[in-house]
Amino acid sequence: MKQVSIGEFELIKQYFQREAGAFGVSLGIGDDCALLQPPAVKQLAVSMDTLVADVHFPRDADPALIAERALRVNLSDLAAMGAEPLWFTLGLTLPEADSSWLEAFSEGLFRVAKEYHCDLVGGDTTRGPLSITIQVHGAVDAAQALLRSKARAGDRIYVTGHLGDGAAALALIMGQLDVEAEAADYLRDRYYRPRPQLQAGEKLRGLATAAIDISDGLLADLGHICTRSGVAANVDVRRLPVSAAVLSLVEKGCVDRNKSMQWALCGGDDYQLCFTVPEARAEAVEKLISAGDIEATPIGDIVPGEGVHCYQGESELDLDALGIGNTGYQHFENYST
Ligand code: ADP
Ligand code: MG
Repeated sequence: MKQVSIGEFELIKQYFQREAGAFGVSLGIGDDCALLQPPAVKQLAVSMDTLVADVHFPRDADPALIAERALRVNLSDLAAMGAEPLWFTLGLTLPEADSSWLEAFSEGLFRVAKEYHCDLVGGDTTRGPLSITIQVHGAVDAAQALLRSKARAGDRIYVTGHLGDGAAALALIMGQLDVEAEAADYLRDRYYRPRPQLQAGEKLRGLATAAIDISDGLLADLGHICTRSGVAANVDVRRLPVSAAVLSLVEKGCVDRNKSMQWALCGGDDYQLCFTVPEARAEAVEKLISAGDIEATPIGDIVPGEGVHCYQGESELDLDALGIGNTGYQHFENYST
């Protein structure tokens, strides 16, 4: 790969300064600050995530995919708040200015920015170990933001999409799983290109009581809703929505059923939404599901008490006895492909 010596301003101009097309950008990249006009009567929703090489992604991963993932996981936080994307800023720390790396990174970044109508309006560029920080700004009606703290006993618990793909993909990327090409492609795509559930977030405003995006695993993230809301959750593990790719791994004997349950319950990186709905509004949510406006599955109920409890039918599961305790944080330092 060709290494170029390129100044910071040249680099920003070449790879990151593009015509802003989204809402409210009075002044974009190039001055001391961006000047932004938020929509009237809305609140700004602001969130930031950092991805560090060899911790959150393998350093030699495709730069376009690193960029996609960095922006997508940030957009997922907006989705979980019921907010719509407006703008983002980019803090980029690079060991060197490698033109082909930057070209691919910027291409991946703007692909996602365009898809979700979210404009890059500024950032900072420094030299150092590879890491990417993105801060997103979105807009939401104050009264309709989906907080973690508003779940109530009697609410139904839903999740969007499938659970466990992220963890299965991580095992694959770390070289711990041997799967057929089709499933491997699907899983890698899910890992690097998680789908921020913005449409679900939007449709659930005014319907869901609480929501969170599942970045650390269902048990951990639903646990945050429970703690913040002062309630408990009962989850029926038979209802956990698992993708055809993960199901086929179980059917072919690549992994056992407990492993797929562990992925769905404890694996992170799915970026689906977990949300709660009072009984009186459950019918409206079911209508959205049958109309194809959102893809979601009811997995249990909010009850008085504390903690997340898993059931298989009537009997509560002892996850530790099944070897399904939390696996702890995995990183890429020793990965091999
Ligand atoms: P300052 O000297 O005021 O800190 P910088 O030299 O850091 O400004 O940046 C110049 C302009 O380029 C600013 O508008 C800043 O927001 C933008 N910028 C810097 N790095 C990036 C980046 N990685 N992506 C997008 N915009 C950037
Ligand atoms: Mg600066």
